[in-house]
Formats: sequence, structure tokens, C-alpha cells
Amino acid sequence: MTLTRRQFTTLGAASLFASPAFSQTMIGENKITSISDGNLTLPAGMIFDHVPEETLAPLREQYGLTEVLTPPCNVTLLQTGDRNVLFDVGAGSEFMSSAGFILDALDAAGLYPEDITDVIFTHAHPDHIWGLVDDFDDLLFPNATYMIGQKEWDYWTDPNTVDTIDSGRTTFAVGAARRLARIEDNITFFNDGDEVISGVAARATFGHTPGHMAFEIRNGPNALMVLGDCIGNHHMAFEHPALISGSDQDGDMGAATRVALLDQLATEQMQVLGFHLAGNGIGRVERMGDAFRFVQDS
Ligand SMILES: [Zn+2]
Repeated sequence: MTLTRRQFTTLGAASLFASPAFSQTMIGENKITSISDGNLTLPAGMIFDHVPEETLAPLREQYGLTEVLTPPCNVTLLQTGDRNVLFDVGAGSEFMSSAGFILDALDAAGLYPEDITDVIFTHAHPDHIWGLVDDFDDLLFPNATYMIGQKEWDYWTDPNTVDTIDSGRTTFAVGAARRLARIEDNITFFNDGDEVISGVAARATFGHTPGHMAFEIRNGPNALMVLGDCIGNHHMAFEHPALISGSDQDGDMGAATRVALLDQLATEQMQVLGFHLAGNGIGRVERMGDAFRFVQDS
């Protein structure tokens, strides 16, 4: 294949990245691949600062959590008919050096950037949308059409958001607005319950961001939910789903969303693919008394 300019500029960093690039599951005839964009590198306090020590200590012990968290970034690729659909586009090169490797993972899965036909966004945080453009501000997926929840679009394209968002996320607002402006002529909007493409239904999962959406990919009795960040980790979000997470912009709403969704996923035993869940993010939700745990598919 011909190297794109973006691949050329990231080749040095990417070669250091050794995790498996992708893994797959099937929902009927639909092939679903977890594409690794790398991982985040975050101070644990970002999520846990307000959590009492007696709650946190057992989590640290059980999940081996340290002061720096390195959650994976698992982009979902759905291949159905002749379409190659990405759910989110990863972090690109401007967010953090440990993320932004989606092209290498796609390459390993046998796809060129030009092969992507559709991009559907869960939300517009940097690790999900900054990979929309390359280092030259060209669209990374030039042949794709784009889709996003109406409410999410309205929030990040509102010129007031940069002033109303908490100060720690000002760059999120600036970065999202700049990138969404690049696709304003090539994007369509959807709402809760809409079928965004055949067999894929949007599910309002607000709280992490004002318009966050998950997606249910269904084929007969088989289904998988693309979670995005509405269930944002495999430890606290499962063991204490009602606890407010520092990564949610509206903590109370994020918690209510998480509790309801985990209950449904455990009851229906629906497969999930979580952007920041452990490993490749593919697994199921198991009930444990009043709490839950994430069981990875092997
Ligand atoms: Zn994220």
C-alpha cells in the first residue's frame, strides 16, 4: 500500500506500539472488529478524586489500579454488505502520544482509510473525534459520510460551549468545534431510537457528554451494543455504577444512564464493545448482587 502523509508522520511512534491491533466477533452476517487506537494515559484522580478511600482501596487491590491509568481505546469497525463503518475515529496525533494509531490497526485488518464508507460518532471528546483530520488538516477518511446525534452536534457547535464547559475541558470544546466544522456539509443527524444504518439503532446514553449515544447492532436474536464511554471502565463503573465518575460531564446523569444500561445488558446478556473497557473491549455484563462485572469474551 501507499503510505499516506499521516501514516508517514506517525510511523516512528506506531512501531513502538505492541498491543494486538484488532480482534473480531460476528453478529449474524455482520463482522465487528475492535480496532485499537492505542491507549489513554490519565492521572487516576481524574476519575477517583471524590471517591472515599474505603471504596477505592478494594478496587485498587482487585484491579491493580495505580496512580496512572492506561485504559485502551477500542474503536468499533462494523462490516456489513459493502459498507465499512467506524464508530468514532480515535484521537489523532494532537491529543496524547499513547493514542492515535487507528490507521495502523486498520491496515492490519486489511483496510485503507479510503475504504471507510461511514463514520458514526458516539460523542465528541478528543479521543473519539480528534482523529478526524491528519497533521495537514485533511480528512483522514476522505470517502466517508458522517453521522452524529443531534444533541451532541448542537452542544459542541454552540459558540457558548467554550465558556460554559468546565475549565479543565476548554480544549475539548475548541478541538471539537474545529473538527466538526470540517464536516458540516457532509454530516447527518439522528436521535434516540433512530435506525442510523440498516440494523443499527441509536440509544440515548446522555451524561458522559450532553448528547452521548450508544448503538445496538442487531441481527435477529443476536445483538451487540457499541458503548462508547457511557460505561467508561471495567472497574468502578461495574462495581459501583451509581458512583459519580469524574470523567462524566454530568455526573448524576451519567450514573443514572450507567445503572439502567448495566441492568439491561446483564438481563439480556447482550454482547458489548466498550471503547475503554479492558482488553479489546468485547464481552458481556454479569450481575454480582447489586453490582456487575465485565466478562471479556475470549
Ligand atoms: Zn473516551
